[in-house]
Amino acid sequence: MSTPVDGYLRHIMTLCATDRAGAVADYIPELTRVDPDGYGLSLCMHDGHLYSHGDSAEQFTIQSISKALTYALVLTRLGPREVDAKIGVEPSGEAFNEISVDGARRPKNPMINAGAIMSASLLLPQVRDADSATMDSESPEVRTVDAVFDDLVSFYSACAGRRLHIDDAVYRSERRTGARNRAIAYMLDSFGVLDADPEAALDLYLRQCSLRVTTDDLAVIGCTLATGGVNPRTGRQIVSPEVAQRVLSVMTTCGMYDGAGDWVSSVGLPAKSGVGGGILAILPGQLGIGVYSPRLDAHGNSVRGIDTCRHLSTDLGLHMFNVT
Ligand code: GLN
Repeated sequence: MSTPVDGYLRHIMTLCATDRAGAVADYIPELTRVDPDGYGLSLCMHDGHLYSHGDSAEQFTIQSISKALTYALVLTRLGPREVDAKIGVEPSGEAFNEISVDGARRPKNPMINAGAIMSASLLLPQVRDADSATMDSESPEVRTVDAVFDDLVSFYSACAGRRLHIDDAVYRSERRTGARNRAIAYMLDSFGVLDADPEAALDLYLRQCSLRVTTDDLAVIGCTLATGGVNPRTGRQIVSPEVAQRVLSVMTTCGMYDGAGDWVSSVGLPAKSGVGGGILAILPGQLGIGVYSPRLDAHGNSVRGIDTCRHLSTDLGLHMFNVT
């Protein structure tokens, strides 16, 4: 059944579709092969109702949107104290792949690559423990990247409400061309702040970036965080309300990279973008938004994705500081 909401969503998509600005990510050949005009939009409401429009069933790689989820997972596993000792929560004001850390040699936040590689490393066995004589074959230290990745996929899938899968071709390409991310992992290692093997941390990070999602998945994931960690479609509590609140806070200040200030002023929703063309945006307590359009601006954010969210925020009064 088509509702007035469906009509409105179709209307803003027609408006935004005229914008052909930006360029598809081209750092690996797989990402250049996508249809640049692909455009999907999904909204998941707190009661689990899903509005899906355009290419909402199109699968694309989650890329940096994964950073928010791995941060949620690591906060759940280790608790905020341990995570805060390793990763800051300050906006970096720099590009997502900047090789930067704060005065305590912590990556500035979990939404840039350095912080995301650190998050991934915190899920892995500590190298010192793995080398110790007391290790037995049942201990968590011997878990391989495979096992940790399985766990991570289960967590992402629980947030999305369906089983997610890796895009192998993207993953292999990311590995072949990952010099910059490898440099970041080894820089953290050289500072003595990475407790896991740098290659393993890098591998886990590149695998998580290569998971395939749709805008429906992003909307459900967003709504899971919006409603304090309960997947609205499965009813399962995936993370605690405290973890959800923390993730939303850091998404607000750091989720759109060095475009974050402009985003918060004009759209005013916690969000995370990825170079695959996806944006996940959230209205706390209410709904999750997933939008996909692969042409990116200079920050690596989807041009139409931003425009679509701006329309939603303005027209529906979704800005979290809406006082009008
Ligand atoms: N895989 C990409 C990278 O690490 C993800 C970047 C992004 O989506 N901003 O460089």
